[in-house]
Amino acid sequence: MAAGGAISAVKTVLDTKNTWAYSIARPPGHHATSQQAMGFCLFNNIAVAAAYLLEVRGLERILIFDFDVHFGNGTSQIFYPDPRVLYISIHQDPHTIFPGTGFIDELGQGPGKGYNINIPMAPGSGNRDYIWILKDILGKIVSEFQPQILLADVGFDAHAQDPLSRCQVDEDFYSWIGEYLMDLQGSLALFLEGGYHLNALAQSNLCLINAMEKGLFSPSEYKSRAEIEKKYMESGGVSQATKNTREMLENKLSAYFKI
Ligand SMILES: [Zn+2]
Repeated sequence: MAAGGAISAVKTVLDTKNTWAYSIARPPGHHATSQQAMGFCLFNNIAVAAAYLLEVRGLERILIFDFDVHFGNGTSQIFYPDPRVLYISIHQDPHTIFPGTGFIDELGQGPGKGYNINIPMAPGSGNRDYIWILKDILGKIVSEFQPQILLADVGFDAHAQDPLSRCQVDEDFYSWIGEYLMDLQGSLALFLEGGYHLNALAQSNLCLINAMEKGLFSPSEYKSRAEIEKKYMESGGVSQATKNTREMLENKLSAYFKI
């Protein structure tokens, strides 16, 4: 059902006037490889949706952006040699968390080289670090790659209250990313991955959706992207580890993208 929901989400975006659709289904999918189930995931829902777009609908450039706190090793593996699917994942440093892969130098293979981008974040990374590095990198890559659709793997397990990770983002990050993704690409399909603290999961999900619609669902709780950027970007405080990651990414990716 989760894999079917993923196909329904992309069909909705392509065939209706909706600019976004969100498949909120479990089990999650991004650890499942083409060969085996893994890490709570049976079928790789987002990869099924991307394969449908490539093979049935003839799309040629798909961006998958994965902000679950774990590296989506399955999604990465499935499209590792394929330049039609650019996979970008921001996740906790795999030295410190499952599945133990997802390093910067895993860049893709053959014609897919340069189309697998990993952004590992040190434990303790919070809103400032996440917003600073994504705002800088994601926009540049998207404007160069020009995806026909953006597929987002949505995980809430980087939340400070989540028991499975040591990242420290909160609702402000999920509000920010919701509006940022809408600003990046007019066609957006989202797919639920992890999130294991139920209150944080519910509240962060609400913030994300509310921000995508600029406060339509709950005007009083809406914080705009500009407001959040002002709060976190003007006062500095980005960690040295995040700055180092940014520099390593620039070194590795400059052969493929102007970042
Ligand atoms: Zn996860």
